Amino acid sequence: MKEHKTKILIIEDEKKISALIRKGLEEEKYSVDDAFDGEKGEQLAVKQHFDLVILDIMLPKKDGIQVLESLRKANNETPVLMLTAKGTVEDRVKGLDTGADDYLVKPFAITELLARVRSLLRRKKGAEKSATTLTIADLTLDLVSRKVIRGGKLIDLTSKEFSLLEYFIRNKNKTLNRSTITEHIWNYNFDTGTNIIDVYINHLRTKIDGGFSSKLLHTIRGVGYVLKDR
Ligand code: CA
Repeated sequence: MKEHKTKILIIEDEKKISALIRKGLEEEKYSVDDAFDGEKGEQLAVKQHFDLVILDIMLPKKDGIQVLESLRKANNETPVLMLTAKGTVEDRVKGLDTGADDYLVKPFAITELLARVRSLLRRKKGAEKSATTLTIADLTLDLVSRKVIRGGKLIDLTSKEFSLLEYFIRNKNKTLNRSTITEHIWNYNFDTGTNIIDVYINHLRTKIDGGFSSKLLHTIRGVGYVLKDR
């Protein structure tokens, strides 16, 4: 099974700097994607799941502050490390006010960038442990209100479907076999011959994937099921 790699998105129009950051991150075994303007960067950040976004302020089409504003407005809480060329106090304050998690003034040493990245990812992990929401791609599950929202649309689930989805999100990108799922959700060995699990999963699939072009819940023939965002 493929190991889950930490995914980082670089939104930076200066190709040399972008390539330098990419090289540094890849040497640390992060999986890297890049965009060279604000519009493209925002699209990628919305469409895919990233563990961190490195965002330059001065960008063509849409600047870094605007990109960050739209992400935060859409409840995208991916940690953002801002890059600023100017290094002016106003720029930094504006970035942090908009919801950036940290910033770095150009020119910077790649080792400094890597240290900031590690620190943000650690902070994110800590926050995730105490989080009351779980997310995958554009779907959010709220453990307190028990609401599920995908792409801004409220999805109505039964309590069993909710438990199933929670279990899948906590194990996202892992293939789960029927008996593991059954044991976890029902706490005893179900007669899997009845295929009840398939019925539940089909209901869940219709609700969370119906009408969306990117599917999250996949059947792995002969094995089980996987909820994945890539
Ligand atoms: Ca720039």
